[in-house]
Amino acid sequence: MDIKYLVRKSISIRMKVVEIIYKSRMGHIGGSLSETDILVALFYAVMKPDDKFILSKGHSVEAYYVILADKGLIPWEELEKYCHFGSRLIGHPSVDIPGIDVATGSLGHGLSIACGMALALKLDKKDNKVYVLMGDGELQEGSVWEAAMFASTHKLDNLVAIVDRNRLQIGGDTESIVKLEPLADRWASFGWEVKEMNGHDIEEIVNTLNSFTFNSKPHIAIARTIKGKGVSFIENNYRWHHGELDEEKYQKAVEELKRHLEAIG
Ligand SMILES: [Mg+2]
Repeated sequence: MDIKYLVRKSISIRMKVVEIIYKSRMGHIGGSLSETDILVALFYAVMKPDDKFILSKGHSVEAYYVILADKGLIPWEELEKYCHFGSRLIGHPSVDIPGIDVATGSLGHGLSIACGMALALKLDKKDNKVYVLMGDGELQEGSVWEAAMFASTHKLDNLVAIVDRNRLQIGGDTESIVKLEPLADRWASFGWEVKEMNGHDIEEIVNTLNSFTFNSKPHIAIARTIKGKGVSFIENNYRWHHGELDEEKYQKAVEELKRHLEAIG
């Protein structure tokens, strides 16, 4: 695993995310920057070609689109049309896009769909895994906990969920809206193997996801993250859940990300 390459990749993806949101004048910038390191770990180091992925926090689609372009599934020039009228690159994942299996964005559904996929793979005696990335705000949906019970009942040990635990959702702090803690204990009590990790340390993410036992329990990694990671004036501010960058803010964001890139060397 070439960590330096992955860290550089992650910053480059953030730069493109900022650019397409600037050009479209809209986007879920906080969540996309929050999840970027997790997606890079998954798509460039953890997942095998036949593994499945669901972006349950579908609104944070920009980083996902940039990775699909980097993987050759979407033309680079098409990214320029993100969220423009007539573009298939709309603000949530759609099955019209190569590489996307599930349309998401109605929050709280991704884990249920992942359970169905994981069970089907087991019935077909296939050993592919199913990865699903959830936001922390969506854990307030009851459907998530129905799926959690289903997964442990059916011993879906080919299922790996990851929570982007930035502690913020569209309206503010998760704990003051509907409290999630003690989150790890809650998942463990539902019969899951639970691990926690720094969601911005790509090496730690890869090692954590590869260290699951894959034996009779579903798995969840709670990733401690910062919403808007990488751009200081966006970081840790729920008002940047969705936002628009004017020219000045865009240039400021690009300069910051360039400095991060230069610091790596
Ligand atoms: Mg959140």
